[in-house]
Amino acid sequence: MRVAVDRGRCCGSGNCVVVAPEVFDQDDTDGLVLLRRPEPPPEAAERVRRAVEVCPAGAIRFTSTTQP
Ligand code: SF4
Repeated sequence: MRVAVDRGRCCGSGNCVVVAPEVFDQDDTDGLVLLRRPEPPPEAAERVRRAVEVCPAGAIRFTSTTQP
């Protein structure tokens, strides 16, 4: 699995950080999303899918859903 974020769309809600803190973080200065792990481990896949669902800005997307 690969995931990408679009900081131009992110509104800094922080939902993704709550759902999958090992994958997403927020910038201390502007509050926008930071991608900690562009290739999350398989055990994080469900949380990443949930983060995509709860992102109000549509700023998170999968670039590949192929499982290792
Ligand atoms: S949930 Fe979406 S809008 Fe909110 S911080 Fe994460 S990427 Fe940004």
